This record gives sequence, structure tokens and C-alpha cells, in this order.
Amino acid sequence: VAGGNSHQVGLTRRRLLQAGALAAGAAYGPALDGVAVAGSLAAPPAFPSGIPVRRRAFHNWAGSIDVRGLWTARPADARQLVDIVNWAHANGWKVRPKGAMHGWSPFTVLRDTKRSERIVLVDTRDLHGLELASPTTVRAGAGAALDDVYDFLHARGLGLTSIPATGAPTVGGALAIGGHGAALPAAGEPAAEGHGFGSLSNQVVELEAVVWSAAAGQYVLRTFDRKDPVTKALLVHIGRAFLTSATLRCGAAQQLRCVSHVDIPGAELFAAPGSPGRLFGDLVEEAGRVESIWFPFTEKPWLKVWSVAPEKPASSRAVTGPYNYPFSDRIPKPVAKLADRIIRGEGSATPQFAQTEYTFASAGLSATNSMDIWGAWKDTLRYIRASTLRVDECGICVLCRRADLQRVLHLYASKWIEVLETYRARGSYPLNGPLEMRACGIDDPAVSGVAGAAAPAIAATAPRRDRPDWDTVVWANVLTFPYTDDCFVAYRDIEQWAHATFDGTWAGTRVEWSKGWAFTPDAAFADRRLLRKGIPATVSAGRNAEEDWSWAMRRLNGLDPHRVFGNAFLDDFARP
Ligand SMILES: Cc1cc2nc3c(=O)[nH]c(=O)nc-3n(C[C@H](O)[C@H](O)[C@H](O)COP(=O)(O)OP(=O)(O)OC[C@H]3O[C@@H](n4cnc5c(N)ncnc54)[C@H](O)[C@@H]3O)c2cc1C
Repeated sequence: VAGGNSHQVGLTRRRLLQAGALAAGAAYGPALDGVAVAGSLAAPPAFPSGIPVRRRAFHNWAGSIDVRGLWTARPADARQLVDIVNWAHANGWKVRPKGAMHGWSPFTVLRDTKRSERIVLVDTRDLHGLELASPTTVRAGAGAALDDVYDFLHARGLGLTSIPATGAPTVGGALAIGGHGAALPAAGEPAAEGHGFGSLSNQVVELEAVVWSAAAGQYVLRTFDRKDPVTKALLVHIGRAFLTSATLRCGAAQQLRCVSHVDIPGAELFAAPGSPGRLFGDLVEEAGRVESIWFPFTEKPWLKVWSVAPEKPASSRAVTGPYNYPFSDRIPKPVAKLADRIIRGEGSATPQFAQTEYTFASAGLSATNSMDIWGAWKDTLRYIRASTLRVDECGICVLCRRADLQRVLHLYASKWIEVLETYRARGSYPLNGPLEMRACGIDDPAVSGVAGAAAPAIAATAPRRDRPDWDTVVWANVLTFPYTDDCFVAYRDIEQWAHATFDGTWAGTRVEWSKGWAFTPDAAFADRRLLRKGIPATVSAGRNAEEDWSWAMRRLNGLDPHRVFGNAFLDDFARP
């Protein structure tokens, strides 16, 4: 598979680019978005007339994929998109949807994609319509930004519970990978209609996609309702489909309180189950929604605990807009300077860098009076701006019983510390970003309100039929700057350990599709054994033959038999 992030290619240039951007106080990436690169042709041969198409760059979130000069079309509506797809089919081109490019995996283009390849990116920005389809559902264009969806819903008294913490991604991008939040019900919390604790994909009632029609002999727009057994293959499809819109089930808007803690030692929070003190699992029982950000070599994580609170608690500060942690979205100069040193290869600056990040986070929480905030779901659950530090992520998640949540967290945190210390002893600092841990529920299709609905086939949040008691998904993200020395070796250590530890007997792994996985010692998305067997097997375990990996891949092939929606990575990986 050629999807890997070959560690060596362009390392120096990228490091310096990234370092320069950080030193200037800005994160690497946004300034380059949409850079046009001159090409010799005005458009690909025979491209449908009247649709703007230009050569543009594709950069993924961390900058580990950065391909210049790819043809990028911007259809005004779904009909124009269908014209592009039929042109691509007739002329041997691939079509790749381009949302906000806020992911890590090579589902759109690969690191080594050439501008000469027959690939047309489709900027989905103009497929952005939002309308109420019913009093409790919203029809959203696939190119609509989550930010706009959240604001639209809230203005109409509606809300969601398990949502990505950042609003820049598009609806199409978030559904493709099964977007989710930090969301479990507190012990005894009454169910609220329309509020799911699994993936955003599980909220879908209906969607529209461009699919092959054998009868018409061409690609057409088709609506899939949630009752249709095929729909579950499209709810999470890792880039093997092109959606134009989705209708999402919502609940009533909720008010939430979010209390931050920076005073609980990680050793206490992630202690073995049954230990004394304030355990992450106990906080989940109390409030349900918890996230920990633990900077390496520091003692205390930044912990956020959300609880449903219809009335403002006396000690909370009321907030009226999202992104209430500006200190984590705009990189302070001292942090940028240390980041710069690390990116230039001075790994030993990592402990000081991480401690400085922790210091700024805790001081920032106090200075902005944000330790205890209260407000609408859309303002308290949206807290990471696109301008935060650009890092790579290892994203292996664990499906388990809620009763085993603390055990999983304890093992994961202990492994992370072991890796940090083992490498430090050798003078190596492969992991300079935090360990971020949160949990959500599995997909309960009844949440959609559609009788006969089924869970998304290949979502990390899909329920296992043989383990109905595995109702919790633990998301563990290990962050580091791209191109950090030894990072892939360390990621591989953690990934291999996770698959062996959560071996399916009492808990099982899956991967977070948008993040990094299948590590070899020098690349992500490259371990052939995991790609061919291991990862598909984690999705298929405990699922029946009409919903497992092979089934989903066959259905997606049936909807796109010419593999117009694919790339070199997916052509190898996304197969039955
Ligand atoms: C700072 C940050 C925080 C994040 N936080 C969270 C979080 O809390 N929870 C979470 O779940 N995720 C989170 N993510 C990950 C993010 O949700 C995913 O990477 C998402 O896929 C990005 O969407 P996008 O619009 O940028 O899509 P792109 O990156 O452009 O594309 C991603 C994938 O979606 C596909 N795609 C895009 N549009 C369409 C379409 N119209 N039809 C079909 N396929 C399409 C692409 O083919 C590709 O496979 C975060 C990302 C960042 C950078």
C-alpha cells in the first residue's frame, strides 16, 4: 500500500516550514489552504463546461499530506456534481470530495499523489444548504460546516449530544468517518429523545448520494432512507462514496455545564479500578461526559467534565458563544518557541514544552474565568478551533463494558507513560503532544426514530451482537508533531500493544478512521497485516454477514462498481 507517510521524504523542508509557521505564532496549514498552482491546461480534457475547475493544493490537518496543483472543481449543486462524476467515469478519472481537509488518514489523496494523476477533487463548499425536514430533523448539504449546522439547530431549539469538538469539518467529512464526541449518559440519566451517544452517522434518517445506476448506465443521485438495508454501508464509508446531503435526527437543545480540573494527578484519575481518589470512571458515573488532555511528563491533566444543567449553577460563568478556551486555540509565544525547537530536532525540549503548555492552559482557564462555564450545548461542546497546534495522532479505540472503562483507561495511560519513559531513557522523545482520552456510547439505531434502522456497518461505534454488554467506546489519541524522530516506532509500539491487550476477550480494539493507524516503524497506514486482516477483523467481530466489513465493501462496490470514488490507498484497503 502506498498510503504511508514515508518518514524521510522532504523531512527537512517540512520541519522548517512548520517551525517557521510556529515561530510566527501561527499554526502550520491555514495560510496554505487553497493555494492555486499554475498549470498548462485551463481544465482537464473534455471537462463539463460551466463548472469552475482550478489547480489547487490539498493539505490534510497536520500537513503530513501536502499535494500541490490538483485539479479541483467547485460544483454549484448536486446536478453539476453528477456531471463531473459521469465525466470522470467516461474518461478514467477518480473523484475525491474535499471538505475542510481536517483529517489525518489518506482517504482523499495520498502523500505521494502526483499532480499528473487523473484525480479531480471536488470542493463541496457550495453543497451547503440547511433546512428543517421536520420539527426534529435537519437536512444538511454535505458541504455544510458543522459550525453552521450547530448554530442552525440551536436557533430552532434543537440539539445533538455526541458531536466533534470542532466545527470546521463538513457534514460529509464527519459522516464519512463516523464523527463523535465525549458523550456517555451519567448514571441514571433519563434518555432524551433524539439524543444519541454514539456517532453522528447514527443520527442519519436519510441521505442522498451519487451512485451507479445499471438501468441508466450512468451515475445518478439516489436517496437512501435509514430503513433501506444498504444505507448502513453509506453511513460510515471511509471515502468510498460521495454524499450530497444528509438528514439528521436531533433532540431538544440542552444546556450544559463544563467544569475544568487541572488539580487531579493523572496517576489518581487513571488509577486501577477500585483505587481511592477521583477516578475518571467515577466522574463518568456522575456526569457522563468527560475528556482528559494530559501533556507528556506533566503530573496533572486538563480534565473537562460536562453535565446537563437546565439552570445556570451559581458558580458558573454563562457563555453565549463557542470556543471558550482561546489560550488553547492561539499558541502563546513561549509555547511556539519551544515547539519550534522540538520541530527543529531538539527532542529534549519536550518536557519543558509540555509543562509550559500545562501552565498556559491552567493559567488561561483562570485568567478567562473558564474553569466553570455554562451555556448551550453548541457553545460548551465546541471547544477546539482549527487554529490549535497541528499535530499527528495515533487513534486506536477500545470497545468495552462500561464497568471496564476505568480498567481500559488505566492500562492505556500506563502504557503511554511506559513508552514516554522508555524512550526518554534512550534520549529519545517521540511523543511531544498530549494523550487525549474520552469515551462515548455505541450506536443505538433506535435513536434515529426510524423503525427498522440498522447501525452504521463499519463505524468504530457499531454494536457487537455477541457482546451486547460492550456499550462503551474509549477514544485514546496519542499526539505528536509530524516528523518527530521515532514517532512511528512509538506509535507502532502502542498500537501493537493495544491490539494484544484488548484482544477481544474482555474488550476489543477498533480504529478511529480519521486518525492514524496501521503503523510500521516508519510510516502510518502501511502495516500490511493490519490493513489486509487485522483492522477489517476488528470491524467484523461480533457482526453478522449482512453488516460486516466484507458486506459493506461489497455494497460500496455495488454502488460504485467503477471505483470512481477511491484512490490508490482505498483501492487496496477498502476491499471485501
Ligand atoms: C482539530 C480537530 C479536532 C477534531 N475533533 C474531532 C472530534 O472531536 N470528533 C471527531 O469525530 N472527529 C474530530 N476530528 C476529525 C474530523 O471530524 C474528521 O477528520 C473529518 O473527516 C473531517 O471532515 P472534513 O470536512 O475536513 O473532511 P475531509 O478531511 O476533507 O475529508 C475526510 C473524509 O471525508 C470524505 N468526505 C468529505 N466530504 C464528503 C462527501 N460529501 N461525501 C462523502 N465523503 C466525503 C473524504 O473523502 C475523506 O474520506 C477533528 C479534527 C481536527 C483537525
